[in-house]
Amino acid sequence: MKQTAVEILEYINSLRVISSHNHHLSDELYRGLDLNGILQNSYANWADTPPDINDAAAVDEFLNRTRCNSFVRWICDAFEQLYGVPFTGKTALLLNETIKTAYAKNENQHLDILQKNCRFDKIINDRQPVPGYDLGHPELFAPSFRCDGFFSGYLKDKPEPNGFFPYSLFEENSVHSLPGYLEQMRLAIKAKKQSGCVALKVAIAYERPLNFENTDIDKAAKAFNNREATEKEILDFGDVVMFHIAEAAADFSLPLQIHTGMGQCRGTNPMQLLTLIERNPNTTFHLLHGGFPWLSDTFALLMQFKNVYTDTCWIPYLSTTAATQYIIEALEVAGAHRLTWGDDAWMAEDSYGALLAMEHALSNALVRMIEDGAIDLPYALYIAKRMMHDNAKELFDICD
Ligand SMILES: [Zn+2]
Repeated sequence: MKQTAVEILEYINSLRVISSHNHHLSDELYRGLDLNGILQNSYANWADTPPDINDAAAVDEFLNRTRCNSFVRWICDAFEQLYGVPFTGKTALLLNETIKTAYAKNENQHLDILQKNCRFDKIINDRQPVPGYDLGHPELFAPSFRCDGFFSGYLKDKPEPNGFFPYSLFEENSVHSLPGYLEQMRLAIKAKKQSGCVALKVAIAYERPLNFENTDIDKAAKAFNNREATEKEILDFGDVVMFHIAEAAADFSLPLQIHTGMGQCRGTNPMQLLTLIERNPNTTFHLLHGGFPWLSDTFALLMQFKNVYTDTCWIPYLSTTAATQYIIEALEVAGAHRLTWGDDAWMAEDSYGALLAMEHALSNALVRMIEDGAIDLPYALYIAKRMMHDNAKELFDICD
């Protein structure tokens, strides 16, 4: 079985990848990067405040505290594989110099990591606060149009949390009624499709629960242009917005990516989406993160609805062990064609770390399924290619 495990991992390491979810930034934001800049902006910073890299003891103390955290584990591996220097108290300054030199010598360092090291052929990218932007590299980035701004638009001068004003997307800037607003929203989505967006994205789980229930326009209209709107009226407005986004997604053949699980952690488990999914059988729902840590919610939705896909993005980086188990159970309930993976990062080193985490979790999952007699080696390789490339290619209608 050891030989089989090696064979599977080697095969996965050879695959070209389509990353189905990512937040890569504009080129200028990667200029002059160093170790501290990467750590401050990476998921490692979510594990704990990064140490002063000039203080060897502080670096070692940080690593003792966090090296078992999945974010830290994989970015450390990424540093060592990308730059040939491990991240330890003793080597932090050398690693810093190596990174600085790489970015100073090559202004495409961040893109080279994505294309050469990560082997990404295409990246479905959600770039805020410029929704739908391909970063000037349309050959690599296929944008997913982030629709969160539409939830803030009950007041014309209210931006979404990243500072984006939904009205800036509208053909008609003076909208006086909710039906008019919803029509402008629809036209904006249509225009984004025409300009090259391959999906819609909603990450409103950072702001509100996912139980979209209200479809009554009159109830929703109570929040429209109303500075005194109650919390409930704003939620009713958001519900109607979400139903219209789901409808537009079906009409314009755009998969609807929804962040599930972590976020505000209150009412963000995937089962909250049941009504929305039930009432939109023609919409393709691409549920992100498996709803971690409420992973079993996603299994129920996968079983019940063939128009639900699961994106395993972020799970291997949140908990590599949970991801191994998740992949097995998701394959068992959904089959091989409704799972995708995205790196869900904005620093290229995190993208590579997330890929390493996924490769590890996926090969472990496939080995366990072979040991269990569920699949044989050729089918394991087939599943791996479907998950890392082919399913996303079909889902987002990506040409070679
Ligand atoms: Zn994301």
